[in-house]
Amino acid sequence: MILCQSCAMPMNVPGARYGTEKDGSLSRDYCSYCYKGGEFSGNPTMEEMIQACLPFEKAARPDKSEEELLKEMHELFPTLKKWR
Ligand SMILES: [Zn+2]
Repeated sequence: MILCQSCAMPMNVPGARYGTEKDGSLSRDYCSYCYKGGEFSGNPTMEEMIQACLPFEKAARPDKSEEELLKEMHELFPTLKKWR
């Protein structure tokens, strides 16, 4: 599974788009929502990013409770490049 290294969005699914570097080439780490023209959009803390992503996680994984998803995200996010 390839994940955006900022918001943990899966990148190996149809419709997922990588962000762009300053020179217009595609970022290898970040999605188009997080990263554009070599800069991150906004400057969220890891906690803010987790809260922002929670609704998408809930929609993608309705079998999990919010507590389970938050626990998983709090384990996953610190391993991503942006939050390391
Ligand atoms: Zn992202």
